[in-house]
Amino acid sequence: MAEYSLSNRKVVVSNKEMTFTEKLYLPAILKGMGVTLNHFFKKKVTLIHGEDLKTFAPTYRGLHVLKRDAEGRENCTACGLCAVACPAEAITIVAAERQPGEEHLYREEKYASSYEINMLRCIFCGLCEHACPKQAVYLTDRLVDAEYKRKDFIYTKEDLVEKMDDRIDVSNRQHN
Ligand code: SF4
Ligand code: SF4
Repeated sequence: MAEYSLSNRKVVVSNKEMTFTEKLYLPAILKGMGVTLNHFFKKKVTLIHGEDLKTFAPTYRGLHVLKRDAEGRENCTACGLCAVACPAEAITIVAAERQPGEEHLYREEKYASSYEINMLRCIFCGLCEHACPKQAVYLTDRLVDAEYKRKDFIYTKEDLVEKMDDRIDVSNRQHN
């Protein structure tokens, strides 16, 4: 009867007696060391973290930024859509009403008095960015720092809102 195999990669195991040279294991050891030696002189593909800088794709999804408009006002209007879209429930927002005299700080009448992202929960999926109707939150090619304490992974507005003198270019991520 004909035998059928899905992959055709079936290997028949042989129990044949080893030869004297095979029993010495030396040829096999030398062959293995040859492979190691061969790789020893090849160009390394691994990068030393902290010393070698890796080039990320322009669309890399790293640390978030909360954007300001051209006049420096915060774009976020605390609508909460990003928090609802977040599958990891990593975003917490507290909304507040803009007061007279604060027009230069916040673009709309409502703003986020508190905006937190728990980077231990975040899976960097980018859904918050897609959900935002105000072009306020974007993921960037920056990395989240390593920390020793869990609470330090909770990023607040102070960490997320871009600085006036250090604007973050997100033009390669803007899709709406
Ligand atoms: S990137 Fe994804 S997981 Fe992280 S905060 Fe945004 S929606 Fe949530
Ligand atoms: S970042 Fe965007 S989606 Fe999230 S609360 Fe602010 S305006 Fe709404």
